[in-house]
Amino acid sequence: MFDTLTDSFKNAIGKIRFHDDEKALKKATDELKKSLLKADVHHKVVKELIKAVELDTKKNGIGKEQFMAALQKELTDILTIEGAPKGFTFASKPPTVVLMIGLQGSGKTTTTGKLAYFLKEQKKKKVLVIAADLQRLAAVEQLKQITSQIEVDLVADENASPETIVKQGLEKAQKELYDVVLIDTAGRLAIDEELMDELARVKEVAEPDELFYVADAMTGQDAVRTAQTFKEKIGITGVVLSKFDGDSKGGVALGLSEQVGAPLRFIGAGEKMPDLEQFIPDRIVSRLMGAGDVESLAEKAAAAIDPKEAKKMTQKIKKGQFNFNDFLDQMEQMKKLGSMKSIMGMIPGMSGMAKQIGDLDLENSAEIKMIKAMVSSMTAKERENPDLLDNMRKRRIAAGAGLDQMQVNRVLKQFKNAAKMAKKLSGKGGMKQMQDLMK
Ligand code: GDP
Repeated sequence: MFDTLTDSFKNAIGKIRFHDDEKALKKATDELKKSLLKADVHHKVVKELIKAVELDTKKNGIGKEQFMAALQKELTDILTIEGAPKGFTFASKPPTVVLMIGLQGSGKTTTTGKLAYFLKEQKKKKVLVIAADLQRLAAVEQLKQITSQIEVDLVADENASPETIVKQGLEKAQKELYDVVLIDTAGRLAIDEELMDELARVKEVAEPDELFYVADAMTGQDAVRTAQTFKEKIGITGVVLSKFDGDSKGGVALGLSEQVGAPLRFIGAGEKMPDLEQFIPDRIVSRLMGAGDVESLAEKAAAAIDPKEAKKMTQKIKKGQFNFNDFLDQMEQMKKLGSMKSIMGMIPGMSGMAKQIGDLDLENSAEIKMIKAMVSSMTAKERENPDLLDNMRKRRIAAGAGLDQMQVNRVLKQFKNAAKMAKKLSGKGGMKQMQDLMK
């Protein structure tokens, strides 16, 4: 997610050695400056950062460790707003009310869905969404689709006023003990008085704990300017940067908190519901400096994987019973973790790999599509025990899945080998065998 930035820090760090002089430090900071500007970080932010890193490093004696420590400290500083919550925090008395605001097309409605999904899946909360964007008629329909897909409740009424629907929704939330209420408000193509008035009225009724401004990363510095205006006119407690997967170089994320004076809280990087990540400064800095972010990865995995199911699966693998049904189940589980690229970026030392892997899409890779088509042509018994397949059945399955018989045979063989390997590795001495294999 932060490929360009991560690379630029790595290059700068590489320029400096253990015991070094001011010239080397200058080289390192010049490199840093150049690449930060190239990544679209605002020039004022770059200037401040460089100055602080230089001062800090000099104070502690010039060397690689000192330079890295200074960079880490100063990066964390520019991403941190004093007193801002770390991650999503809940009001002391539920429900926690969140007002989602932003311009039309910024990704506000999609982000509302993603946030609902995050709170439900990762935080295990009971979430209610209120559709108060009544300007754009399609927005209500869009929210209906999204919320039914992620199985989250929605309050919507195209004929009510935004204030009325918010009141109704909040009453429902009180009565039915929801933990969080997300309110999707109206947007416009540009900032106008009427919109600001409507948002002010909705805010008064909603008394929100959080006001999240959704900014489109693709609009670069424009996103920063509109965020500043919304902060002045309505007040915001956090920014969600959407469409970070576009051709954005990542620099906006680095300067945004400092420039807007409100913390960046989430980043949206994709159109699917799991494509939302918390922005927690020290964790992000760790990722930027190539040290990964194991904490976030563990949280994601813990939320996505049911420990009971995981144990059952391990037993099956140990007994050599892992079958095509289990395979499909596992693929579904993996989807909850988000894109492969973002997962790789969280593993220490793997950020370089993330770039190579590109965006391997589990659902749409040709190989997985082929296996899915094949499995759906098999009977339940055959999925459990592919050995039952004779040549005639293989031909039928190939025809049903639009493949030729060779392809079917190849997948069956691969699968059988993989199951055997997994069984072996899960047994005693498995790790040693694995290490031998890697030699
Ligand atoms: P709204 O008018 O602000 O409610 O915007 P929408 O939620 O309808 O989003 C506008 C478009 O941006 C839609 O096509 C979304 O699918 C897309 N979108 C939203 N967030 C992201 C994101 O993080 N990445 C990408 N690639 N597309 C996004």
